Amino acid sequence: MRLNPFDTNKINVGTTGGRSGGMGGGGKLGCGGIVVVLIGALVFGADPAQMIGSMQGSPSGSSQTVSSSEDEQAICTSNAYAQESCNALTSLNQTWQARFDEAGLGDQFRDPRLEFATAQQFNTGCGTGSVGMGPFYCPADETMYIDVQFYDQLAQMSGNGGDFARLYVVAHEYAHHIQTVTGISGQIRSAQQQNPRQANQLSVMMELHADCYAGVWAGRNRNLIEPGDLEEGMQAAAAIGDDNLTGGRVSAENFTHGTSQQRMAALRLGMETGDDDRCDSEILQMR
Ligand SMILES: [Zn+2]
Repeated sequence: MRLNPFDTNKINVGTTGGRSGGMGGGGKLGCGGIVVVLIGALVFGADPAQMIGSMQGSPSGSSQTVSSSEDEQAICTSNAYAQESCNALTSLNQTWQARFDEAGLGDQFRDPRLEFATAQQFNTGCGTGSVGMGPFYCPADETMYIDVQFYDQLAQMSGNGGDFARLYVVAHEYAHHIQTVTGISGQIRSAQQQNPRQANQLSVMMELHADCYAGVWAGRNRNLIEPGDLEEGMQAAAAIGDDNLTGGRVSAENFTHGTSQQRMAALRLGMETGDDDRCDSEILQMR
């Protein structure tokens, strides 16, 4: 996508503190597929509810530091991936604010924070995070956590280094924020509590809905889409389907994110229609 440059007045970014080992510093996937699967299983989805459940204590937010716009400028220009994520965040904020405005709900919109994971371990509103978790969104502090080194792994998994694969990741985590603001994620979580046997199925629904919303962002910025973007998104969606990640060793009822086919279809629906109502009516089937 040909994204416009980021605007620090329109985004809220920071880092988790600590120093990263640098791009590619020691993190190359030398051990092959197993590591990829372990990382990939958490892709897009250390489920915040599970995170909260598995971690005791230290629920306080991570970022005591308030970033100034100079800090934000420095963070967003620290490497090409960060810059791209900041560009995407600026566009996502504008697109979703406009969508809320359109629906007459403009005053309910609030933008998420984006923190680049630069420490091996860090505190979040959902417990301790670590870079190996892959990108995730924590509803308690309304923050997206992204380790940009993950993007190199994604390129390997999806077989392409295209920008849209990475933008899909950002837009998917952002979609979890929209689900939080609109209350959709809360509704799904209570349905999971009332119906533990359907918890995984409901989790799949929430993830596919986020994939669809990720597509909606792209679909509402059609003029910025470049040839190959849809295909890059499709390859990424296929690579991170539960069936692909588990190599068919896990049965469907244990999936938590959806099959490759399901994820591709959800992303495509959003991209082609640019209509979040279609995501709601076709993917959310609350009982
Ligand atoms: Zn997700």
